[in-house]
Amino acid sequence: MFADLIPVISSNFVNPDTIFANNEISLQDIEIYGFDYDYTLAFYSSHLHTLIFNIARDILIEEHRYPEGLREYEYIPDFVIRGLHYDVQKALLMKIDAFHYIQLGTVYRGLHPVTDKEVIAMYEGSHVPLEIMSDFYGKSSHGHTMKQFMDIFSLPEMTLLCCVNDYFMKHNIDYEPVHLYKDVKEAIGDVHVKGIMYRAVEADIEKYICYGEQTQAVLRKLAENGKKMFLITNSPFDFVDRGMKYIVGRDWRDLFDVVIVQADKPGFFNDRRKPFRRLTDQGVLLWDRIHRLEKGQIYKQGNLYEFLRLTGWRGSSVLYFGDHIYSDLADLTLKHGWRTGAIIPELRKEIKIMNTEESRTKDIFNSQFGSLFRTYHNPTYFSRRLSRFADIYMASLSCLLRYDLQHTFFPRRTPLQHESPLWPEQASAGAANTPLKAEAAGVTSSE
Ligand SMILES: [Mg+2]
Repeated sequence: MFADLIPVISSNFVNPDTIFANNEISLQDIEIYGFDYDYTLAFYSSHLHTLIFNIARDILIEEHRYPEGLREYEYIPDFVIRGLHYDVQKALLMKIDAFHYIQLGTVYRGLHPVTDKEVIAMYEGSHVPLEIMSDFYGKSSHGHTMKQFMDIFSLPEMTLLCCVNDYFMKHNIDYEPVHLYKDVKEAIGDVHVKGIMYRAVEADIEKYICYGEQTQAVLRKLAENGKKMFLITNSPFDFVDRGMKYIVGRDWRDLFDVVIVQADKPGFFNDRRKPFRRLTDQGVLLWDRIHRLEKGQIYKQGNLYEFLRLTGWRGSSVLYFGDHIYSDLADLTLKHGWRTGAIIPELRKEIKIMNTEESRTKDIFNSQFGSLFRTYHNPTYFSRRLSRFADIYMASLSCLLRYDLQHTFFPRRTPLQHESPLWPEQASAGAANTPLKAEAAGVTSSE
């Protein structure tokens, strides 16, 4: 394997509970904290991925008439990583860098890698042109043939796609990759929409939800410091209520000034027409017009423009946390000037590996696809968009417990390429006076 180039950091140890800043932000300015629910307040165990995989696989067999032989496939933990691109036409899963280049060695058809030669022949090189890349939200709609999987829930979806592709190829079955992609997407969607996943989690909550005490500690800390809090989730109320009672306790709603369920993000941030609707504790939808968002009530759907009008919570005093960089954070940061925090659970594992491993190769992170954040020489496409849409990022909400609420996060100030002192090899190739400049800047040259 080729070595991944991880930047050399002065101290080898990075605390996995650190909050990292892309953009300067002071918590002193933040009065209002907003949260997504799934994988932000509620962290799920890996059992959930197995559950989603198994149910979706069985839906393919029972409702879409896929071969019975697919039942042999079990969920493969750690086969894929988040942020990968899937070529819907060619049925290939791959990692793409910040400059739209495919990382060779990370292209998979089914469960097996595709040779570099074949990849280069198919794409006439390794660059993916803009018109076939995924759209702004990672989708493959409107003629884009690439889909980017950004959701943590999409790990079982990618794995299922790989398994079904593998089965078809192994048995020499002629199939249309576009149909397969749509069927898998629909089957995975049904696991959520038909409530199968919600019922399974509610029935055995201790098996599925982890680190509840830490989430609770963060929320209590914010409440004790007089911060306002709100929740905007795409999940239904019963599911969120059951989870929050487990994580925080029966009084969880006392902590939140506004609770919005089935918000339909990212539509919530863009579609001005959808009104809020009040939902009773018994799940009955009321028809009256909403003039206020009241504490203790539950609202369904709505839109951000109405939310801003009713709460007056604008601009840089709001910090919103979510794990989906596009659906949760992109519109808020680009259109509304809210501050954003990305929850990236994978960070904890990658930092631990960087702290302990001597051998710096791609496969120490993930045997098939390497690091979520890097290709050999570049940031990944995922990393580039993370740095654009998130002011800060961290492995879990509990990282906030390490900081006081006056803390200012500063990004590491790196010089732009033309500002940095020249490296020795550039100096030797450059003008006669550059070694002096390099020396003055404290760079020791071997020449
Ligand atoms: Mg989420």
